[in-house]
Amino acid sequence: MTKDTSSEKPKKLREEDIASPKGMRDILDKEYYAYQGFFEKAAEIASYYGFRPIETPILEREAVFTSSLGVGTDIRDKEMYTLKTKGGDHLVMRPEGTAGVMRAYLENGMQALPQPVMLYNYGPYFRHENPQRGRLRELRQFGLEILGTSKSIADATIIRAMTLILDEAGFKNLSVEINSIGDKECRSGFIRELTSYYKKQIDALCPNCKDRIRTNPLRLLDCKDARCQEIKIKAPTPIDSLCNDCRHHFKEVIEYLEEMGIPYHINKNLVRGIDYYTRTVFEIIEIDTAPPVEGAEVSTPLSLGGGGRYDLLAKSLGSKKDVPAVGGAIGVDRVIMSPSHKPINPRILKKPKVYFIQLGNEAKLKSFGIIEVLRKAHVPIAQSLSKDGLGQQLAIAERSGAPFTIIFGQKEALDNTIIARNMETRSQETVKLADLPDFVKHLKDELR
Ligand SMILES: [Zn+2]
Ligand SMILES: [Zn+2]
Repeated sequence: MTKDTSSEKPKKLREEDIASPKGMRDILDKEYYAYQGFFEKAAEIASYYGFRPIETPILEREAVFTSSLGVGTDIRDKEMYTLKTKGGDHLVMRPEGTAGVMRAYLENGMQALPQPVMLYNYGPYFRHENPQRGRLRELRQFGLEILGTSKSIADATIIRAMTLILDEAGFKNLSVEINSIGDKECRSGFIRELTSYYKKQIDALCPNCKDRIRTNPLRLLDCKDARCQEIKIKAPTPIDSLCNDCRHHFKEVIEYLEEMGIPYHINKNLVRGIDYYTRTVFEIIEIDTAPPVEGAEVSTPLSLGGGGRYDLLAKSLGSKKDVPAVGGAIGVDRVIMSPSHKPINPRILKKPKVYFIQLGNEAKLKSFGIIEVLRKAHVPIAQSLSKDGLGQQLAIAERSGAPFTIIFGQKEALDNTIIARNMETRSQETVKLADLPDFVKHLKDELR
């Protein structure tokens, strides 16, 4: 790196001019495999439970989110990356997965399929928030959605599949924080009660909550500001105002959790402030890192995932019919970065069985044919394309841990042979290229 040269050439690039954007990062090597392994395992579990894959665009029209997430939510008001295309379209880098999946469900006529439709998806999401503990601006989520049913078993299935996936990824002490925030029957009454309670104490509230009374009163219940904690404890909670149907639905969800032995905690203040949520809302936390503390100013544990029922979303996206649905997503970055995470090897990751040494031009020209014979026999190799000394290459082969080395030098290239060297016994044999497929078969048996 050179010193600041702004005095000479004003346009010279500085390191920060091309650095990856704040809160976004490269994923390399072992970490890449960890993400891939997690996704494969998650997709496998989802498939066993009957979910099918879907991928939606990373960009959606702005209205998909502005009409559904709700005014007064951080994710909609402050955190969306929006852009105007040259054609004049207003697009958003998707900040979450559910609205896009519902959009796809409606647009592709999935109402005509046998209901419910069960979908899983995986990919990046974008939120312009302050990067901090476990929060990135480009984040990766694994999402599960069940669309087209209001049955409580769907809520339970989402929670079950998510906790199973986390369990397989090494998280053994999970707890589900769960609440019901009611539906359109019972929620408006509750909101009136809540706002009138808060209006009486408005002077004591933090500035955010003063706004929330007007913009998004449910969010009053998850304020973390010290000033609001006393008031919050005595505030009315949605669960105490549920109508009979909602109460019954919630009771059934809890019964399923009991039956499955999934530890849970009814958190009366959990609201997950997005407008489309109805009835069940939940977050999955790790108990070890987050002992339950009674009282005010609890630093909320990082949730590994969360979700809820969203019976109102379809209509907010223009559907004439209600589409009752429920879903959840796992924050994969948090999973990968957690000390509890046990990486799962992806299927594509293979230990090299053969270290392949090619020396000289003649050998290099013919080397591709040999690698193809090995690939077709499913024998993964390691090689060094630029080193030309046998000693040097053998040293690398030794370190690679591959049980066999194939040496293909100038002489072998002319004779149409290779030398196969057993790295453990150090015995070598010469094999004719014509006999290579048979030899590789025999090699595979030996490697088993
Ligand atoms: Zn507050
Ligand atoms: Zn209700």
